[in-house]
Amino acid sequence: MQIEFKNEPFTNFSLPENKKAFQEALAKVESELGREYDLIIGGERIKTEKKSRSINPSNKDQVIGIVSQADQALAEKAIQVAASTFESWKAVPGPARARYLYKAAAILRRRKHEFSAWLVKEAGKSWAEADADTAEAIDFMEYYGRQMDKLSERHPLTRIPGEDNELYYIPLGVGIVIPPWNFPLAIMVGMTTAAIVAGNTVVLKPASTTPVIAAKFMEILEDAGVPAGVVNFVPGSGSEIGDFLVEHPLTRFISFTGSRDVGLRINELAAKHRPGQKWMKRLVAEMGGKDSIIVDNDCDLELAAQAIVASAFGFSGQKCSACSRAIVHQDVYEQVLNRVVELTQKLTVGDVTNPDFYTGPVIDEKAYSKILEYIEIGKQEGKLMAGGEKGEGNGFFIKPTVFADVDPNARIMQEEIFGPVVAFCKARDFDHALEIANNTEYGLTGSVISRNRAHLEKARTEFHVGNLYFNRKCTGALVGVHPFGGFNMSGTDSKAGGPDYLLLFTQAKVVSELL
Ligand code: NAP
Ligand code: MG
Repeated sequence: MQIEFKNEPFTNFSLPENKKAFQEALAKVESELGREYDLIIGGERIKTEKKSRSINPSNKDQVIGIVSQADQALAEKAIQVAASTFESWKAVPGPARARYLYKAAAILRRRKHEFSAWLVKEAGKSWAEADADTAEAIDFMEYYGRQMDKLSERHPLTRIPGEDNELYYIPLGVGIVIPPWNFPLAIMVGMTTAAIVAGNTVVLKPASTTPVIAAKFMEILEDAGVPAGVVNFVPGSGSEIGDFLVEHPLTRFISFTGSRDVGLRINELAAKHRPGQKWMKRLVAEMGGKDSIIVDNDCDLELAAQAIVASAFGFSGQKCSACSRAIVHQDVYEQVLNRVVELTQKLTVGDVTNPDFYTGPVIDEKAYSKILEYIEIGKQEGKLMAGGEKGEGNGFFIKPTVFADVDPNARIMQEEIFGPVVAFCKARDFDHALEIANNTEYGLTGSVISRNRAHLEKARTEFHVGNLYFNRKCTGALVGVHPFGGFNMSGTDSKAGGPDYLLLFTQAKVVSELL
């Protein structure tokens, strides 16, 4: 009997034993910094001349690992190996494939703090954010394993006398998996394991800023006994091998999570038929967000302020679901704004190896300059209320920043900044607030803080986002509980962690036999 899916609990770091265990994990990871990581194609480890250094964004001088980089020839080899491995892997029964995921989840659970410590070091996540990322990775494997078990059962077709009819969900083929760096464990694991449990083989190109976490996860797949060639690990720059992987005629599908611009480019390239290509490629693309919290005049104002601060500044705003727009009813605007500013000024930013800091750095130099540029734009477009400058230390630290009185069409209200910046905008009434909330090209998450039942019901149908929350923050989706994905330029609404997700990596075949 299958045990019912339950979300992995978060660690309570206020307990001394948990704090100590995490410090030990950090020490273990520190003793392993700077090692080399190879490509893994068909189980073979391959070193290349060209290497990239992954650094700790909290401490730019600390090298996390040195990672071999695939070129096009190695990308070609990975696709060929994935294509030949598909022939055997697709024949493994679904429940047997699911067992690899359960095993990998069990191994990751045993090494939970160690993986979270890698997330602290390579991605600059606070202990709590890292712990949640690892828990989500475990959840994805447990959840998709169960979904595959379900998909493998006999499906309830309408039965007619004299004929035996059966529907099977069969895999697609070789998938290119391109995850982002901001959930470098959870999203990478979810995208990869969903594809393989459904019977596909994968070429995994991790994000360039967080390849070491992905390399560590490859160890887990090997320990779990996943056959060589099912997941082929090809770190490399997206701009160098990305197009090649996407355009390859043996590529059957692309599973992408990342920015709007890269997603649109992949969509265009994937649509074009290439010589020798026998199918239309499928694209699952989860992209950016520009997420709003609406604060109504009849609501718990403290809850509203807490929700805005947690959603805007957790992991320094580097979540697709992060709140970057606070749309507040004019009656309570000053109160909510002042309380948010007060709470924001108390937040501390620094090297998250130390758990006393609320949040850490942004991911790299490029993000750092881009966010500081947006802060300068914000100073033109609104009134700076908190932050607005870099933080102290040898990392990419930026102070949590609040702008007030921003026009709904201002750039900082429309463009994804992906950093610790929130813009406040005043609404005349609830309808006006909804109109502003829907005025971006994105449609990922949003929240409404209100006690007015009619307003909540109106938002339920009219606030056009894939994940809408009432009276809580707009971040922190849980696998199985909040299937996740957005509308419009936020992507193809795949609803990761939901009951329909695995279908995206399958095609249905019906066999009818006259008896
Ligand atoms: P990104 O720059 O688009 O990169 C995402 C991935 O695409 C990386 O692995 C990147 O590789 C790769 N890539 C870059 N150029 C490519 C190309 N021409 N062909 C193929 N692959 C290419 O996004 P990011 O900065 O990592 O992540 C942040 C973005 O992800 C934000 O927009 C955020 O909202 C979005 N996001 C969305 C969700 C969601 O569920 N909707 C979840 C998390 C994040 P390199 O690292 O080598 O450039
Ligand atoms: Mg790095």
